[in-house]
Amino acid sequence: MSHVVVVGAGQAGASLVAKLRSSGFDGAITLIGGEKVPPYQRPPLSKAYLLGDMTEERLYLRPADYYADNDITLRLNSWVSGVDAKAKTITLGGGETLDYDQLVLTTGATPRKLPASVGGTLEGVFTVRDLDDANAMAPAFTAGKRVLIIGGGYIGLEAAAVAAKRGLKVTLVEMADRILQRVAAPETSDYFRALHQAHGVDILEGVGLETLLGDTHVTGAKLTDGTVLDIDFAVVGVGIAPATDLAEKAGVDINIAILTDEHGRTSDPSIWAAGDCATVPFHGQTIRIESVGNAIDQAECVALNIAGQETPYIPKPWFWSDQYDCKLQIAGLNIGYTDVYVRKGDAAGVQSNWYYNGDTLLAVDAMNDPRNYMIGKRLIEAGRSPDPALITDPATDMKALLKP
Ligand code: FAD
Repeated sequence: MSHVVVVGAGQAGASLVAKLRSSGFDGAITLIGGEKVPPYQRPPLSKAYLLGDMTEERLYLRPADYYADNDITLRLNSWVSGVDAKAKTITLGGGETLDYDQLVLTTGATPRKLPASVGGTLEGVFTVRDLDDANAMAPAFTAGKRVLIIGGGYIGLEAAAVAAKRGLKVTLVEMADRILQRVAAPETSDYFRALHQAHGVDILEGVGLETLLGDTHVTGAKLTDGTVLDIDFAVVGVGIAPATDLAEKAGVDINIAILTDEHGRTSDPSIWAAGDCATVPFHGQTIRIESVGNAIDQAECVALNIAGQETPYIPKPWFWSDQYDCKLQIAGLNIGYTDVYVRKGDAAGVQSNWYYNGDTLLAVDAMNDPRNYMIGKRLIEAGRSPDPALITDPATDMKALLKP
């Protein structure tokens, strides 16, 4: 009987084993995870869960008995330390080896940390990637405390929103010229800067952290412009690195992340990868997508391919972020955009930013605007690009753009 071993019991791993079973695969399936808890959703860790609005159980992707009921062996609290691609075995931390016929790496990513030389290992300096991280930092989110958020990407901004809502004094530093510079247009940065400032967050752009201060626990921070801040704790949101170490041990090709073809297969025909640790082919480029949508879709595609259906993975990127009462929804990828067209809704805070490369619609950032998110998503997936003049014209019936 064929044995599929999946390493990494996160979003992609859990999606993969479920799809594999539901698509009729009747071999053995083992899902191995380094964390203590069953697979869970990470997005609430910097949103509702951190705010205290969600219990741990509600994070779980499936009920605990789902795995046994579907004849999936779930091994938690088990770290995989090695792969022998020739022998087709993996080694667990305790030295146990397991044979596989097909191996899937869904090992995710690890947050980049600040080095000890700038105070990165002081107590009270947090990163947020997993449940333990969120549980460790949640008690610090107490009204009146002073927090420095390092990094103005989505995770830093979400943590800032939670902190401000909980009544903390929040300062956010972003080394680049503007928040969200890596992922969004200036129009989207402007929207979120104004939103945070309206909630009392001090946003410092073009300013980096020089060093954190303190003996054992962080007590302050010195910024590159010479400012010294007194703080009670810090949250570091400066990006993630794909977890490629097992793939390296297996000897498969790495480029940005674990290199996969359009079927999710690596350079070893018995090893596959999906989610944050893997690349995806996208319009002739090799990219990596950090999102729940990609983790699910790529993993499900790999499951179909292991089950024998030759299914290419065609990414249909989507993403969201929650900050205060704003829901941001993103459709498409804005890589290579040349122009951005802004459409404002009638109500305050309703806005969609449309990214084009010349005449081609690439992506939409929709803030509290689910209707235009859906319209943009459908247009992008259909490969259709409305005249940008229609986007900015308040008189345009946006729904009519979907008509053939
Ligand atoms: P993960 O979910 O990280 O799972 C990988 C798992 O593999 C981990 O449990 C890890 O412990 C395990 N593992 C790694 N190596 C080994 C090993 N050697 N042995 C055993 N186990 C191993 N995306 C969105 O689309 N929208 C959002 O709003 C959003 N918000 C986010 C907020 C936070 C705080 C975080 C951290 C992420 C957020 N994301 C969001 C990103 C999204 O959660 C990830 O893209 C998604 O979880 C990727 O799934 P994955 O399965 O590839 O990796």
